[in-house]
Amino acid sequence: MSVRIRPAIADLPAYKPGRSAVDLARELGLSTAIKLASNEVAFPPLPSVVAAIAEAAASVNRYPDNGAAELTGALARKFDLSAESVAVGCGSVSLCQQLLQSYTGPGDEVLVAWRSFEAYPLLVTVAGATLRPVPLLDQTHDPDAMVAAITDATRMVFICNPNNPTGTALGGAAMTRLLDAIGPDIVVVIDEAYREFVTDPDIPDGRELMRGRPNVCVLRTFSKAYGLAGLRVGYLLAEDPQIATAVRKTYVPFSVSTLAQVAALASLAAEEEMRERCAAVVSERDRVSAALAELGHAVPISHANFVWLPLGEQAMTFAAFCEAQGVIVRPFAGDGARVTIGQSQENDAFLSAFADWQVPRS
Ligand code: PMP
Repeated sequence: MSVRIRPAIADLPAYKPGRSAVDLARELGLSTAIKLASNEVAFPPLPSVVAAIAEAAASVNRYPDNGAAELTGALARKFDLSAESVAVGCGSVSLCQQLLQSYTGPGDEVLVAWRSFEAYPLLVTVAGATLRPVPLLDQTHDPDAMVAAITDATRMVFICNPNNPTGTALGGAAMTRLLDAIGPDIVVVIDEAYREFVTDPDIPDGRELMRGRPNVCVLRTFSKAYGLAGLRVGYLLAEDPQIATAVRKTYVPFSVSTLAQVAALASLAAEEEMRERCAAVVSERDRVSAALAELGHAVPISHANFVWLPLGEQAMTFAAFCEAQGVIVRPFAGDGARVTIGQSQENDAFLSAFADWQVPRS
């Protein structure tokens, strides 16, 4: 007799750590390597946030507030919702998992556009539900195909807007049409991990879209624009408190640490600085996109803090080439490579690697 892993879990790929910039630099004999692979912001946390974390460090002998009341209250005020309509999680990826565990199980179908956030398929499998991927059209969600893929078994639809890894986003008309076509008994998750980088007024704000739609919720995170990826805190908003109530039932107790809670609160108080940083990222994103177009490789218009190179079968060799130049990007085999926008000189290093890669091929 031996222990037996659930067959669906056994079939999942084993965890593979990402390439570390420190290891790559050592390997190449460089002083530093550049990591543009995880959609983090390149700025260190704001001084006010570091101070809040340092102060709270003295009390980590105590458990965190399991209800994260202060943070939940601040988010509720910011988004003009009741505290019952807001739930925090250990990163928004945890909220994805909680949503799936609360609403889906064997026999249920979960619709996602594909390619999209790579955690969705894994988490659907962990919940025991069935993934229904709907191919992107021109690197963007295809609302008509998504509606056509809905069956009686569909329990949840993820809409990643802007989409990771393509950076594309659905505009207001397409999004409204899609939401209107999805029945009220299906949970719609609008994943807005990159919302703060959106500048195009035609891309709708999920907070507005969920008005009058009790089946719709929005996920946001402190990991990207707020620069707290290492602390793990995200949040869910829904107009009807029933969705937040449901995900609180599958919350791993105490999983949003005290440090994460105080850092998120301090970050909300430093909104102005966060906006300035996002504006800097957006201007670099547009500069990198324009430079790639000039090199003959126009990328899909990105509304996030990364750009997508639809390189198809060349994705892996391109990523390996960049690594040899000390730049780590994120390839998806057979599909493309995602490149996070970093500091100016980091983006220049990427552009220079890209130009070198092109030379032997042009
Ligand atoms: N959603 C999307 C679309 C993402 O790209 C990510 C991070 N890569 C997440 C959710 C999860 O972010 P976190 O758990 O750090 O909040």
